[in-house]
Amino acid sequence: MDKTQILEKAKEFHGHLCPFVALGVKASIIAMDEIGVQRSDENKSIGEDIIAIVECSNCFVDGVQVATGCTFGNNSLIYFDLGKNALSLVKRGEWEGVRIYIDADKINKYFSKEANELFEKVVVKRQGDEEDKRRMAQLWEEIAYKMLDVPKEDFKVEKVKVEPIEQAPIFKNVRCSSCNEFVMEVKAVFVDEKPYCLKCAVKTTMLLLGGV
Ligand SMILES: [Zn+2]
Ligand SMILES: [Zn+2]
Repeated sequence: MDKTQILEKAKEFHGHLCPFVALGVKASIIAMDEIGVQRSDENKSIGEDIIAIVECSNCFVDGVQVATGCTFGNNSLIYFDLGKNALSLVKRGEWEGVRIYIDADKINKYFSKEANELFEKVVVKRQGDEEDKRRMAQLWEEIAYKMLDVPKEDFKVEKVKVEPIEQAPIFKNVRCSSCNEFVMEVKAVFVDEKPYCLKCAVKTTMLLLGGV
């Protein structure tokens, strides 16, 4: 897959095409290139060989998930709530990799006055009409494609080393004594030696304590 095809997949996954989903794709391509890996394939995503560490939860992360194959669901994506547009990609076992950070000041020049004004009107102030929304989506898509060609020098690229991260453990399930649904044993709460899911445990404990 070339970068445009990855971006199209990302659009499908993310629901729309926007500059930051494209930056997630671009940052991932740079990172994979730097550490000499390819997108996580079937074997790798099962063995969790590469790990993506992201520092925000926005459009950028969806680009990362599609481009690297490291997803929230396959346990290869780690999220730190730091509010930064950055991705670290590391190889499991070596625990070394690369961190890519995108500085908003470096990409401002790709946003036209019209695009910025429409964003302010449609997204920030929620005042745009249908035509404004359509035009904004169009401009956003155009900028997204340009993001794929932002030169590597405009990203901050640095080597990183991380602490070893445990592989996702496999837990056995127990059945909740109240709602009868299965819950991972490590997440269950035992009241009078009977397992409860966290939701039911709160209710059960309240009853035992004579609360509401
Ligand atoms: Zn988006
Ligand atoms: Zn329950």
